[in-house]
Amino acid sequence: MNAPATIPPPAGDPLAACRLCPRACGVNRRVGARGYCGAGVQPRIFRHGPHFGEEPPLSGTRGSGAVFFSHCTLRCLYCQNYPWSQQAQGEDLKTPQLTAIFRRLAEQGCHNWNLVSPTPWLPQIRAALAPLFQDGIRLPIVYNSSGFESPETLSSFRDLADIALVDLRYAAATTAAAASDCSRYVEAARETVAWFWQQLGPLSTDPAGVAVRGVICRVLVLPGHADEAVDSLSWLAQRLGTEIAVSVMSQYTPVYRARQTAGWDRRVTREEYGRVAAAVEELGFDNGWVQEYEEDGSPADLLGCTMPAGEAAVGRKNEEKGL
Ligand code: SF4
Repeated sequence: MNAPATIPPPAGDPLAACRLCPRACGVNRRVGARGYCGAGVQPRIFRHGPHFGEEPPLSGTRGSGAVFFSHCTLRCLYCQNYPWSQQAQGEDLKTPQLTAIFRRLAEQGCHNWNLVSPTPWLPQIRAALAPLFQDGIRLPIVYNSSGFESPETLSSFRDLADIALVDLRYAAATTAAAASDCSRYVEAARETVAWFWQQLGPLSTDPAGVAVRGVICRVLVLPGHADEAVDSLSWLAQRLGTEIAVSVMSQYTPVYRARQTAGWDRRVTREEYGRVAAAVEELGFDNGWVQEYEEDGSPADLLGCTMPAGEAAVGRKNEEKGL
């Protein structure tokens, strides 16, 4: 991990002509203009605190220090976080207040700072963390992303990512356009995963099994689109190799606009999920987790991932192999 001081700041003020994500709206958020995501100047937070629902090396025993940022660069019709990602609920904070949140998460013993959908707020996050770094307080930073990122922004803010927790949701532009209003998602997200992989490499943990660096790629299986999840896994295996940690998730629940959208108003079937889980095995991934399939449906947990610790099918496979 590079020390923050070694990272040159981006040229100019990113908020004065916002191109933080690939939408590249170019609006001046400093004077009240809002782009596609609707984010302003003061960081808006919906919730923060120790979070135990992430993958086991992130949650550890004391929780992942999650900060759920409001606004989003996508408009997923099934978003579990829609009250704050799509409807902008949350509280506007001044920089010292955000600093205090990060400080409190560290004092609570969280294993990391988990930035959930941070892209519109990266300059403010950097400013809020700076005083803590100066005080010698530093946790691994989890960059928790949909995958829709700009390489230029990732490069400019690479000091805010020790661990990348990044999605590959679709493999077809038509699906990404229909479900997330983002026809460019596939190429952007694949580029994002490849960029993080080149920068951070495989997931590494401390002696207690807590993540300190590396990439976890999440593949959420979507109803009617299991083949796209298989395609994403195949792309990962062919382009980046099978050492990358994958987290295959069965928890899709039709919430928000998905409840009224044909095809998206149901859970993933056991057969669909089984095809994706089988691909993980067949492609030979060595690290990661395959969430178990719950017959009676997952609860609509608005905090996102509900993967319980210890249900790591790939991890079990590695144990069987003596890894
Ligand atoms: S972060 Fe928001 S305002 Fe900035 S380019 Fe992306 S969508 Fe537009």
